[in-house]
Amino acid sequence: MSLGSYFRGLSHLFFPALCLGCRRAVDRWDQLLCVACEAGLPPNDSYRYPENEVTDRLAGRLPLVFGAAAYTFREGTVCQRLIHDLKYHHRPDVGRKLGRRFGERLSQLPALDDLSGIVPVPIHRRRRHQRGYNQAEAIAEGLSGALGAPTLAKALRRRSFQGSQTKRGKLERLENVRDSFALGSGDFSGRHLMLVDDVLTTGATLDFCGNVLLEAFPDVRLSVAVLAVAER
Ligand SMILES: [Zn+2]
Repeated sequence: MSLGSYFRGLSHLFFPALCLGCRRAVDRWDQLLCVACEAGLPPNDSYRYPENEVTDRLAGRLPLVFGAAAYTFREGTVCQRLIHDLKYHHRPDVGRKLGRRFGERLSQLPALDDLSGIVPVPIHRRRRHQRGYNQAEAIAEGLSGALGAPTLAKALRRRSFQGSQTKRGKLERLENVRDSFALGSGDFSGRHLMLVDDVLTTGATLDFCGNVLLEAFPDVRLSVAVLAVAER
């Protein structure tokens, strides 16, 4: 039992477990959502089609074996609240649990038969220190458990902040982001890797991360799994 779950267990003696969607009491500590909020979190099943919302957004930039999003991200939804808790309220368990659920949905797919590792998008060390964890890594760990492929948290790394971003132009900022991703450690020649992030918006981050791996290992095959794809 982790220290976090120990203290949450202990605090259950004094506080009820709360649904992360509506903050009403739920029966069990391992329950993220009440029945009503669970119904407000419809799964995104577009990965059943080879060309879908995820592959489309990366089309022409990153060749993919497979792309999937667990949910659709919209303002004011249960999905948004869960991701907010994962990123800003010290709840890596939300990432691990939703990652596990997602992995269970994906576990029988032939496209992922030869998957050899799961690569979370790295965050800056400073941000990791502030947050206490990398949210993409938490999701990757959940997926890992269900898909039987290891989490490769050191495959990519993030270089340090490059000064203030606010005074730079949009293009320069984008180039800065691209340059902030670098190869970590490991030989992934001929492997099938799954890149993992929390929310897919423009796709720039996944594009840059994937291309770092492709430049180093031209025969690597890539898939992408995100917790949520932002509606356009
Ligand atoms: Zn609820």
